[in-house]
Amino acid sequence: MKIAVVGAGAMGSLFGALLTEAENNVWLFDVWPEHVHALNSCGLSVEHEGKTRVVRVKATTEPKEIGQAELVIIFVKSTQTTSASATARDLLGPDGSVMTLQNGMGNANIIAEFIEANRILAGTTSHGATMLGPGRIRHAGAGPTTIGVWTKSKEGADRARQFADFFTKAGIQTEAVEDVHSVVWHKLLINVGINAITALTGIKNGQILDLEITRELSRTAVEEAMNVARAQNVKVRENAVDHVFKVAEATTVNRSSMGQDVDNKRQTEIAAINGFIVREAKKLGLEAPVNQTLTALVETLQFHY
Ligand code: NAD
Repeated sequence: MKIAVVGAGAMGSLFGALLTEAENNVWLFDVWPEHVHALNSCGLSVEHEGKTRVVRVKATTEPKEIGQAELVIIFVKSTQTTSASATARDLLGPDGSVMTLQNGMGNANIIAEFIEANRILAGTTSHGATMLGPGRIRHAGAGPTTIGVWTKSKEGADRARQFADFFTKAGIQTEAVEDVHSVVWHKLLINVGINAITALTGIKNGQILDLEITRELSRTAVEEAMNVARAQNVKVRENAVDHVFKVAEATTVNRSSMGQDVDNKRQTEIAAINGFIVREAKKLGLEAPVNQTLTALVETLQFHY
C-alpha cells in the first residue's frame, strides 16, 4: 500500500518505519530539513529495548515528490494540524483515507474541514517514541492501537476494520471500534489529569500521586472534563480518575509529552487538551476553573520561553 506520513517526528518516523518493514511503499513528509536529509542519507535509526536497527525510508520536504497515497497518516503536534491537513488533502488519492492518532481533541474536526468526514479515521495508540536527533528515534514502548471512523457510516466502519487488519498484519496490533469518540476522550482524560500538572511543576508522572493536594488538582481537572463529556453524551468510564492515577503509577518515571515540550521550550498541545475542556465547558455553560488555570499557566509559560 502507498502510505504518506505527514509529520515524521518521533511517532511518524516510528509508524513509517514499521509500515516500511512490512513492505509498504511509505513516504515520510516533514518540514525539518536536517531530519529529512539524515533519513535519506543514513536511514532511520530506531533504538528499541537496548538494540538499534536502521530502517531505510523515503523522506521528503516536498509533498509533490510523493504523488497520491491510499493512506495519509497525520502525526504532527496538534498545533500544526491545520497545515498538515491541507498537505494531506493534496496527497490523498481518490479513494484514500486519512488517519490521526494524535493526542488532544479537535484534530479530526480540523481534518474534516479539508477532507470528507467518512474518509477520516481517528484513534489512539499506546506506542511511545522519542526523538533523539535528526534521523534517530527511540521506540520507548509498544501497546495496542485503536481506530474508528470519526463520523459514523457503514462504509467508514468497513474501512476502519480493513485498516485495523492491515496494521495488525504489519505488526502494529490494532483494533477497530464503533465508538472511537469515547476512546479518544479516555486518552484525553489521561492527558488532562497528568500533562499540564507535570509540565508546570517539572515532576514525573508518578509524582502526581505523592501529595493529596496534587492528586486533588488532577482529580478536579479530570472531573471537570468528565462533566463536559457527559454533557456531550460521550460515554466515559465512571472511575476515570482512578484510571488516570493507575496510568500515572504505571508510567511513574516518565516525563509527560507536555513536560518534555516545556523542558525543550517547544509549544505544547495545551490548547487541544485542557484548553479544549475550557472552550467546550464555556459553550455548555459549565464551570472548568482548574482547567482554565492550568491552561492559562501553560499558555503563559510557553509565551515567555
Ligand atoms: P514530534 O514533535 O516528535 O513530531 C512532529 C513532527 O512534525 C516534527 O518532526 C515536525 O518537524 C513535524 N512538522 C511540524 N509541522 C509540520 C507540517 N506542517 N507538516 C509536516 N510536518 C510538520 O511529535 P510526536 O511525539 O511524534 O507526536 C505527534 C503526535 O502524536 C502528537 O499529537 C502527540 O501527542 C501524539 N503522540 C505521541 C506519542 C509519543 O510517544 N511521542 C505517543 C502517542 C501520541
